[in-house]
Amino acid sequence: MNLPKLAIAALGGTVSMQPRSAGEGVIPTVSGETLLASVPELKSLAQVTVETLCLLPSASLDFECLLSVLSWAKYQVAQGAEGVVITQGTDTLEETASFFDYLWDHDVPLILTGAMRSAQQAGADGPANLLDACRVALNPNSRQRGVQVVMNGQVHHASSVRKTDSLAVHAFSSPIFGPAALLVEGHVHYLRSPVLRNVLPLPQQTLHKVAMLEASLSADTLIVENILKLGYDGLVIAGFGAGHVSEKWTTVIETIAGKIPVIIATRTGSGSTAQASYGFVGSEMDLIRKGAHMAGFLCPRKARILLWLLIGCQRQDEVTSYLE
Ligand code: GLU
Repeated sequence: MNLPKLAIAALGGTVSMQPRSAGEGVIPTVSGETLLASVPELKSLAQVTVETLCLLPSASLDFECLLSVLSWAKYQVAQGAEGVVITQGTDTLEETASFFDYLWDHDVPLILTGAMRSAQQAGADGPANLLDACRVALNPNSRQRGVQVVMNGQVHHASSVRKTDSLAVHAFSSPIFGPAALLVEGHVHYLRSPVLRNVLPLPQQTLHKVAMLEASLSADTLIVENILKLGYDGLVIAGFGAGHVSEKWTTVIETIAGKIPVIIATRTGSGSTAQASYGFVGSEMDLIRKGAHMAGFLCPRKARILLWLLIGCQRQDEVTSYLE
């Protein structure tokens, strides 16, 4: 029987972690080949190729590294892969998923997964997540859905997924939107149709910087006042509630927004920013008037990824249309 080609890359993270010796903290050392050996069932589902592209905690992945992973994934598609799976740490999974999704111009599914329990921990979830991720990657209904995250029996779209718990096995959810699909007895059940995606060209530069600051009660303006001086090319604010900041921050943001793009998202973890509800100084209406853009449902971290990519391909003037 001609099995479909499936390409898997390991980048590190808890799924690849174990202690060097008893009593020590876990570190990424487990290769993609070893991860693959933990899911022997896969042999009957696909012709699998696996590569260990790096072994890092996901906090230390960076955009340059992600661009090289992306080019590896595109090469796998060119070689005939019908699904691509990447294993990595879960700490930044919601950001890497968005990064890849904005740039993934193939119908072939690109699926990210990881684990909350390390390789040798009792009840390790890595093998089950990897097998589920491969099932989703090979499922014909996963085509034209861009990048998705598979964790704990659920499939989440890159645009909505968030890590909403620090240590629980059910650490991932899609606030407001819910999972795109569920895995039931090894079968993938989509709950809704694919969303329309706006894919960006690859960035032509990578040295630009986008800062992200969170509004907090009685915060001073020292850092925000220095954003331009420090050479940032864009700013994302995780604002209060529906996208608000203090009066003190508002004046500074107006000056910054005259020079570089500023996006205001909500720091609440769920829901959208407003557009036309509040009129006080520092409200969304005031900030829009002063040149800032509202992130809508995009969380601050995903808004920062979008802005970095837009600046990288000189499309920052179109930021509003990408936030819609
Ligand atoms: N809990 C994280 C993980 O799942 C910690 C390490 C990391 O993100 O690489 O992998």
